[in-house]
Amino acid sequence: MEQFQFKKKYGQNFLKDDTIPSKIVSYSQIPEDTLVIEVGPGAGALTKQLAIASKEVLAYEIDTSLEEILVQNLMPYSNIKIIYDDFLTRDIKQDLENYQYKHLYVIANLPYYITTPILMKIIESGIIVDKIVIMVQKEVGERFCAKPKSRNYGSITVFLNYYFEMNQLFVVSRNCFVPKPNVDSVILSLTRKKELLPVNDFCLFSKIVRDSFQYKRKNLKNNLKGYDLSLIETVLSKFNYQLTTRAEELPLEVFVEISNILSK
Ligand code: SAM
Repeated sequence: MEQFQFKKKYGQNFLKDDTIPSKIVSYSQIPEDTLVIEVGPGAGALTKQLAIASKEVLAYEIDTSLEEILVQNLMPYSNIKIIYDDFLTRDIKQDLENYQYKHLYVIANLPYYITTPILMKIIESGIIVDKIVIMVQKEVGERFCAKPKSRNYGSITVFLNYYFEMNQLFVVSRNCFVPKPNVDSVILSLTRKKELLPVNDFCLFSKIVRDSFQYKRKNLKNNLKGYDLSLIETVLSKFNYQLTTRAEELPLEVFVEISNILSK
């Protein structure tokens, strides 16, 4: 490992020892018969612990120069498969075809430069993930878990909230990594909701959410001026909001109702 050249472009900050990986795994509460997907095993610090705690691990690593280190570090574990490729370009559904499992978890210390694309990829790939436990930059974690009316609340918050129960588990100091990053991190858990709110047209829902937050300082009337504002107003007034309200005040169910009324 001493010889390894860390690549900034791949967001390579590796966990120094087993303390944080064990803590992540114990907080994840992995049930029996679980397949775990890991994005970015790095040198395998978390992968090892996942192999011990789960049925199988499927990991994706973009950096092929880690192969030798991973083969060596993960030698004792026969339930790990590593695909050396860019996670974002994979057909995950196809990768999972030959696996049999009862639960699917994603557990990873994510490469921070693509945190949101990775989450969107998981959501859009059509696979049913029971739980996602991820390490992200602390500020990003705060944004993902923000509540309405807070300055961190944004379209990604609403979107994640649609699918998942979001929780911040614990903070990880920058001192736990090599090389040491400039920011602290946080572990989040995203548990898939048992019942999703019915949405008539999902594309319209996500477009409305994005458009509502387009200009942060503007209110809904300005950000949604391309839509039927009188219909939107009907929904808003039902929940005691107005067209002059800003998107950051609206909870998920209001966005869902707005998109449903507009898709009729
Ligand atoms: N899991 C290791 C740990 O905790 O010590 C390493 C985590 S490091 C923050 C992120 C890892 O993701 C790196 O190994 C990096 O090479 C890998 N990575 C970056 N972009 C990737 C991508 N698009 N697909 C798969 N792996 C990627």
